[in-house]
Amino acid sequence: MFDIQVSNSSSIDSVDFENIAFGQVFSDHLFVMDYDDGKWQKGRIQPFGPLTLNPATMALHYGQAIFEGMKAYRQPDGGVSMFRPGDNIQRFNISAVRMCMPEVPEDIFMQALVELIQLDKAWVPNNENSSLYIRPFLFATDSHVGVRPSHSYRFVIFTCPVAKYYDKPVKVKVEFDYTRAAVGGTGAAKAAGNYAGSLYPTKLANDQGYDQLLWTDAKSHTCIEECGTMNAAFVVNGQMIVPATSDTVLAGITRDSAIKLAQDLGIDVVSRTVQVAELEKAAKNGTLNEAFGLGTAATVSLMSTIGFKEWDFELPDPATWTIAHQIKDALDSVRLGRSEDTHGWNIPV
Ligand SMILES: *Cc1c(COP(=O)(O)O)cnc(C)c1O
Repeated sequence: MFDIQVSNSSSIDSVDFENIAFGQVFSDHLFVMDYDDGKWQKGRIQPFGPLTLNPATMALHYGQAIFEGMKAYRQPDGGVSMFRPGDNIQRFNISAVRMCMPEVPEDIFMQALVELIQLDKAWVPNNENSSLYIRPFLFATDSHVGVRPSHSYRFVIFTCPVAKYYDKPVKVKVEFDYTRAAVGGTGAAKAAGNYAGSLYPTKLANDQGYDQLLWTDAKSHTCIEECGTMNAAFVVNGQMIVPATSDTVLAGITRDSAIKLAQDLGIDVVSRTVQVAELEKAAKNGTLNEAFGLGTAATVSLMSTIGFKEWDFELPDPATWTIAHQIKDALDSVRLGRSEDTHGWNIPV
């Protein structure tokens, strides 16, 4: 189905799989497919390497660019499975529509993932806590100055072996001034510009000693939306509370998996609007037991501190937590093929 040019040298022997810096080590091949003349052209798999771009490439000027992030895991029998790739493909196309870009046909996308990962199967780590991160992206390639949708696009997938993302629990600050996403905006899409816009407010928080922001709604800054580039979850009085998805809260696949696994485990879990005030009250009266982020890169990322307007709340010692650990263990064991995949989430390559 695709043209395949196999690399005649591999850099795999230079990789220390026990100590991989996240997103800095790339597998030997990538997948490329261009959209020209109103249709998708034949895809190709080729050695990983630089892309050459005209300086007027529209994505660089007007930001028509989207991405996805997903993972493949080594299975006990030595095989490799991707985790819920169909959901990432669907979300990619939702992002494409929002940014006025052509959708990638689902079957071609899936086939590209399978063939690319099969070719670079040796790059899927064998060790605990590690996986192959998969980065599909799409960007506008017309060489044109002037704002309009591009006519041509390039779709690329590359992969990176990765270890854990954050090592220690993160300090987060509730953001009351800046906004990640607004109703009617692009927050539900994985559009490149969303992340660019979050950098400066995050840097200001970093300067104050926080690692990440807890984003609030654009209009009133009274409801918690997301944690950095992850979905957020809280445990109050033993109940797991997850902000509901919306135009401004991205529908994370880790979030959805965590909710379903929580239900399987008999954990009391709800998805609803979460007020900053109720969290602060729970923090004050000792019922805010756990807080964590949910996302593909970090999986379950524990919070150590939540900075409210006037004060910092220190969460209880994670050793006393129960729900975040249960969710992480359940998620890990499904993805690593150690427990039964009752939801049909693992897709072998
Ligand atoms: C990607 C992303 C998430 C997490 O989605 P997953 O599918 O779980 O990786 C959450 N919020 C934002 C803003 C994101 O970009």
